[in-house]
Amino acid sequence: MPETSDQRIPILDLQPEISELWEEFEQAFQRVMRSGQFIIGPEVRAFESEAAAYLGVEHAVGVNSGTDALVIALRAAGIGPGDEVITTPFSFFATAESISNVGATPVFVDVDEGSFNLDTDLLEAAVTERTKAVLPVHLYGRPVAMDAVMAVARRHGLKVIEDCAQSFGARHEGKHTGTIGDAGAFSFFPTKNLGAFGDGGLIATDDADLAAMARKLRAHGSAKRYHNEMLGYNSRLDELQAAFLRVKLPRVDEWNSRRREVAARYDELLAGVDGVITPEIVDGHVFHQYTVRITGGRRDAVREALEAAGIATMVYYPIPQDRLPVYDGRFPRCAVSEGLAGEVLSLPIWPGIEGAVQRRVVSGLVEALRRV
Ligand SMILES: *Cc1c(COP(=O)(O)O)cnc(C)c1O
Repeated sequence: MPETSDQRIPILDLQPEISELWEEFEQAFQRVMRSGQFIIGPEVRAFESEAAAYLGVEHAVGVNSGTDALVIALRAAGIGPGDEVITTPFSFFATAESISNVGATPVFVDVDEGSFNLDTDLLEAAVTERTKAVLPVHLYGRPVAMDAVMAVARRHGLKVIEDCAQSFGARHEGKHTGTIGDAGAFSFFPTKNLGAFGDGGLIATDDADLAAMARKLRAHGSAKRYHNEMLGYNSRLDELQAAFLRVKLPRVDEWNSRRREVAARYDELLAGVDGVITPEIVDGHVFHQYTVRITGGRRDAVREALEAAGIATMVYYPIPQDRLPVYDGRFPRCAVSEGLAGEVLSLPIWPGIEGAVQRRVVSGLVEALRRV
């Protein structure tokens, strides 16, 4: 549907891909309803092997959400009480929450302004004798400099669990994110680059023991039914979501390359606009978000002016994880993250967003900057 200039522009529009694939979703739905199998059946098994093949990894384990993928991956990697896990302050709270929920302590290392990701130059200095793992986040779909992370991890014998909730399909030096460390945790929350129609998640790994442990943990700590060996979770990807994801998986590369085109177009349209810093466009980036920085303390005013003009934007994230009320100020401050939290503004992006809509977003932004 072509946008006219008085229609509100959402931050994300899933309807184009839903309409495009409607019949295939209907067939997937009917297949599952007729099978009578709704939990860990043929669709989940097929999706796990298709996702493993796509990612280039030995094992994929479907779970209930990206958050559970993180928690289960951490536990399967042997992380628990008394351990420190180094991560980024600048992420959705599920990242630090998963570390805290397994009984470990998050150690926040500040981010690098240009990439929004963990500053790998600061990583080694944060390692102590209690450090057991690093949990990098490929924020906004931009791959972390994993070679630097892996070098530090190898020197200190640390596990690496990648938070790939925003980076399905992203690559670092040719390898998919989530396949470089010991495990990758993916989310299929509907707004993610590969999204289900509900919650869902996946753990990717080449480590057979870690995969086996993850399979136990998702099923109440049992490999054999009613022979529970440990405390686990009820955390399965369900058959319906797996069937829908199987329809979408073959399209994700094309959608991601369209997202890169959208980013390049924003980059062109925003060239030379004062007060806006555009994100770096690097190889392998899948632009889950296109996030600019609004300098000069005007971010919130600009956002409000855009909202009034019918243009939705989002702030991911207004408070760095370490400053959230839950942690009650107990962590040392990370100045770069705090600065970014006051400047970031994510603009509307989805694979099918039209050039005309992007031009409206940018002219709205330029107008807002002029007025606030
Ligand atoms: C979405 C997200 C998660 C959590 O995924 P859910 O499927 O919503 O549980 C974790 N980390 C990051 C960076 C995310 O964006």
